[in-house]
This record gives sequence, structure tokens and C-alpha cells, in this order.
Amino acid sequence: ILVVVGSSNTDLVVSVTQIPAPGQTVLGGALQTIPGGKGANQAVAAARLGGGVRFVARLGDDAYGALAREGFAREGLDTRFVFATPGVASGVALIAVDEKTGENSIVVAPGANACLSADDIALAAARAAFDGAAAVLVSLEIPDDAVFAAVEAGHARGIPVILNPAPARPLPAELLQKVTILTPNQSELTLLGGSEALLRAGVATLVTTLGAEGARLEQLGEVPQTFAAPAVTAVDTVAAGDCFTGALAVELAQGASLPDAIRFACAAAALKVTRPGAQPGLPYRAEVVARYNA
Ligand code: ADP
Repeated sequence: ILVVVGSSNTDLVVSVTQIPAPGQTVLGGALQTIPGGKGANQAVAAARLGGGVRFVARLGDDAYGALAREGFAREGLDTRFVFATPGVASGVALIAVDEKTGENSIVVAPGANACLSADDIALAAARAAFDGAAAVLVSLEIPDDAVFAAVEAGHARGIPVILNPAPARPLPAELLQKVTILTPNQSELTLLGGSEALLRAGVATLVTTLGAEGARLEQLGEVPQTFAAPAVTAVDTVAAGDCFTGALAVELAQGASLPDAIRFACAAAALKVTRPGAQPGLPYRAEVVARYNA
């Protein structure tokens, strides 16, 4: 069993011929309502790849929250720790995509995600959310208090903690020392001060995603090891990092070695980028196995 702690958003996506400038109104294509949010993407990726997943999150008491909860149930997530937040909107991302360049402009309204607290983590823990877990996966689209409490909950129980530092913000050494595996992308790695600084701060293992170049494994005193990404034609890289991290966590939770888990995560994420949408594009285990013999 994997415990995923993080955000849930509904992506409201409209394609436009031109991203609107300040003060400008543009007409776009049909509205697409797509489940997303880093935490939920990671939880769904892990579930589709065959892991039992307990998701710890907050939704608002609105239609988007109800839709998200239904989606989680369909995906087979354990939703007992997805808390409702009266009087607050669910997380929403407003996304305009340039239909020619694929570039996007995004406004995130965190809503209930901003209400996830250390008390919620404690409540989930009291209700046995962490009991018997093989790994805890945490991302940063939630308040610091919740991040710290989730990392501590795993650490205190001797459960490996995987932290996806996205969106990146500076993290204290006290937290990094409790992280088993940190999974930044290249810009997040730079913002966090680079590999050397992170490993010296106490991160046990660093797995940096390199986009089309794959991923790099680094540990203190070891030679860095790079894993190539399968060559694919990318149509949508949204949630590529979430897919990678979810896949890595599932594999490690199921007892795979770190190199094997990274290879599998590269294969799963490569399949993701060939498909549109955040959660709708996440692959199932059978697809990854069939396509990459992973
Ligand atoms: P993020 O999506 O968080 O910015 P990356 O861009 O590094 O992170 O992508 C995460 C992972 O997705 C990569 O490590 C790689 O495995 C896979 N990936 C991303 N882009 C491509 C691509 N163009 N071709 C193949 N794999 C890709």
C-alpha cells in the first residue's frame, strides 16, 4: 500500500489562437473539464500502475469536488482520507493553451488544497492511513504544515518517504533529512540549490527527471547514473513528472530495485506524454508492459 498526500484540482482547459494579454478578451474552443492536480495525478498514476493507494487530500463542497471524488472511486483509490471542506471551493486550474505552439498560461485557485493541515495528517494517521504502508509520496501543492507532517508521519514509522518538490519552494535541511527520495525536475533542482547541496543537506537519494533525456540517479559518494527516456512523439507533457513519480513510488513499494523502478517510471512517463490531458492520459500497467516490456 502506498500513501499519497497532495493536491487535487480540476483543470478547466480552453484552446486559443492567442493567449490573452492583460485587458484583452479572446474567444477560444470548447471548454474541457479534466481531473488534475499533482497529488491526485500521482495517486491515479500509482493506482493505474497496480498499486493500492490511500489518498490524503482536501476537496471543497462543490460540484468539482463531487466530480473528483467520483473519479477517485472509479480509479480504485481509497478515499477515506479525502476530507470535505465546508464553505470552500475545490482546487481549480484555469488553463489557456495556444493551439499552435502548445504554450500555456495557467491560474491556479488552490481552494480546499490550501486547507490541508498537519491536523488532517494526524487525523488520517489516527485512522490508520499509514499503517502497513510501503511508501509515502508527498508533493508541494499543499501548505508546508501538511508537507512537514506527512514527511514526519512516514519517517517516524520507518516508511520510505518520496518527496516530489513541485511546485518548488525552498525546503529546510530538517525536512530534507527525513526524505528518502527527492524527485525534482531540472528547474526545481536548480531552485533547490542543485544536487550537491541537496545530498549534503541529507537527502538520501536524488532522482532528477530530465524531460526527453530521461532521469538521473544520484547518491552521496556514488557516480551519478543516467537512465534514457524511450523516444516518443510528445503531444502533452502535462503530468509527465507526476506519472514518473507515481510509477517510481509504486515500483519501490512493490519491492523493485531503484534502477528498475526508474526504468519503469521512464517507460510509464514516456507513454503519458504521447496522450493528452492530465489524469486521462495516465497509462495502465498492462499498457506499459505491452509497449516497453517493462
Ligand atoms: P515535469 O513534467 O515535472 O516538468 P520532466 O519534463 O522532467 O518533468 O518529465 C518527467 C519525465 O517524463 C521524464 O523523466 C521522462 O521520463 C518523461 N518525459 C518527459 N518528456 C518526455 C519526452 N519528450 N519523451 C520521453 N519521455 C519524456
